[in-house]
Amino acid sequence: MGTFIRGLFVFFIIVIVGGVIALFWNLEHKLPSLSYNEFLVMLDSKEVVEVHVKGGSIILTDATGRKVTTFAPDVQALVPRFIEKNVVIYGEADKTPFIVNLAMVGIPILVVFIIWFFVAGRQSRKDESSEFGKDKAIKFSSGSKGQVTFRDVAGIPEVKEELLEIVDFLQRPKKYSKLGAIIPKGILFQGPPGTGKTLLARAIAGEAGVPFYSISGSDFVEMFVGVGASRVRDLFREAKKHAPCIIFIDEIDAVGGHRGGGGAAGGGQDERGQTLNALLVEMDGFGTDETVIVLAATNRPDILDTALLRPRRFDRQITVLPPDVKGRLQIIEVHARRIRMVENLDLEHLARSTPGFTGAELASLVNEAALIAGRAEKDAIDMSDFEAAKDRMLMGVERKNFVIGEKDRRTLAIHEAGHAILARFLPETDPLHKITIIPRGRAMGHTQQMPLHDRQVYSKEYLLNRITIFMGGRAAEEVALNQKTTGAEDDFQQAMEIATNMICKWGMDDVIGPLSLARGDQGFLSGGSMMAAMSEETARRIDGKIKSMIDSCYEKAKSILSREKDFLEHLAEILLKEEVLDREEMEIIFECTQKRMREKKATGEEGNACPAIVTENFEV
Ligand code: ADP
Ligand code: ZN
Repeated sequence: MGTFIRGLFVFFIIVIVGGVIALFWNLEHKLPSLSYNEFLVMLDSKEVVEVHVKGGSIILTDATGRKVTTFAPDVQALVPRFIEKNVVIYGEADKTPFIVNLAMVGIPILVVFIIWFFVAGRQSRKDESSEFGKDKAIKFSSGSKGQVTFRDVAGIPEVKEELLEIVDFLQRPKKYSKLGAIIPKGILFQGPPGTGKTLLARAIAGEAGVPFYSISGSDFVEMFVGVGASRVRDLFREAKKHAPCIIFIDEIDAVGGHRGGGGAAGGGQDERGQTLNALLVEMDGFGTDETVIVLAATNRPDILDTALLRPRRFDRQITVLPPDVKGRLQIIEVHARRIRMVENLDLEHLARSTPGFTGAELASLVNEAALIAGRAEKDAIDMSDFEAAKDRMLMGVERKNFVIGEKDRRTLAIHEAGHAILARFLPETDPLHKITIIPRGRAMGHTQQMPLHDRQVYSKEYLLNRITIFMGGRAAEEVALNQKTTGAEDDFQQAMEIATNMICKWGMDDVIGPLSLARGDQGFLSGGSMMAAMSEETARRIDGKIKSMIDSCYEKAKSILSREKDFLEHLAEILLKEEVLDREEMEIIFECTQKRMREKKATGEEGNACPAIVTENFEV
């Protein structure tokens, strides 16, 4: 894109310069002109003092010094007459048009060169300041400000352990080489975005106190074939000069994606291939005496060209996954060092309620909380700020001005209360965290559960309960309002996905048996080829099983909600007033409902309504 804009700029300069030249050329010829006859008359009457003959055109000066032009069909024949009339003759070969033509072509070319030199010059000056030639790589040299060390990386202890070894390679290469050991050249970090791969690479450089060159794979892939390859060579040449050091290539799949794999960036296949080859040649090329360690990161290891993964290239692979609850706590603590919080904030609770968050998301959670607290003019960040920040990240910005009609709000409250009650009564499920009927992002309401610990393995019972909880929204609408609405669309989708996976991937159905019918990484629903590979009979049986599984969960949801109908209605009523309820509040409402029921049974009368709960509202 940049190249294109530069080209356009140069083009305009050419047009402007050309135009100006043409204008001047014309101006010079915008002298008043005479016909040849008139000219002859002037000549005869001795009015002409001087002539400039240039090709066929004549510029003449009269006695008053006025200049006029004319065109003579036969200049040669005039010369004797000029002499006869004592006219001063200046002759000039007819070269000017050629020079001008040359200028018309040459000056723009010159201008292009000047601009090019200017741009390139500025570029190299910029690069000199970062001690780096013709490249987009950023160098963070050792000891510079903003230094990252392992202290800034939290929550991935196993990975850190492994990387300490690399730090030692960089610091004391002799220790290994004297024993004949070959220090690894390439390490590939793989894992989802935001898990801290870049951070780790920088921390290694920081710990070892060596320069760090960072470039993104997509920077290699430019419009012109060969540019990427030369960048790679420049990068390695420069790095070798500063060995020991680290080269970090982010998004390596942009260059190293295999054919048909569809790397991230555009650019021709040719260019990618050449760049990749250059990279391989460079990696194979450097000797054992230069300790340059190449770190690369990708979130798509599956599309990497296998050539990259051969021995002596990126033969070490380190997987960086999103942190578990302990890791999340540590990451929050690392980032919380920067901010001012109220004392004794329960960060563990925060860590527990953010399952699936990556390091980058936790970092922005902390920052978002600080922004929210700032907006509210607080002196320190408290839990409500974190809650608000989390809600915003999970569900999008609160749609404060989104008006829902009273009837729809009631339906919504019943729907969410249905989910919540099932989450409370079913055994083997995550404890309830919060219910809200404030629309956010796409969702109208939300019931949040909070896992006590990260689960890696899910039991069949847990999964069935999840489906039942998803069914709870619609079931509640039916039980309490005897109606069906579109509000359950998302719930159905998620329930369907779980049920399908249970049967096809996790072998949890007795009739289908312990089979994994899904192949590769593709989800069942997206794998068209898999459907084809399956007999029609099996497909029909699977469909039947999914339906009966979901049906029975729905029935279970309905029966629990019918049993707890009083609680359901009461909870929905309070939810309408409060908009947000947490677990303790829900318990209070439950106790109160029980008491009322007992009183009603004993006295046969409606008891007093429970007092509305005054809650500290979570929202800002
Ligand atoms: P990736 O390269 O895997 O996409 P980054 O390294 O760019 O992720 O992470 C982005 C930011 O997220 C980091 O600058 C850091 O602030 C934060 N972060 C990610 N992982 C961690 C971690 N393990 N510990 C502390 N901060 C982290
Ligand atoms: Zn729902």
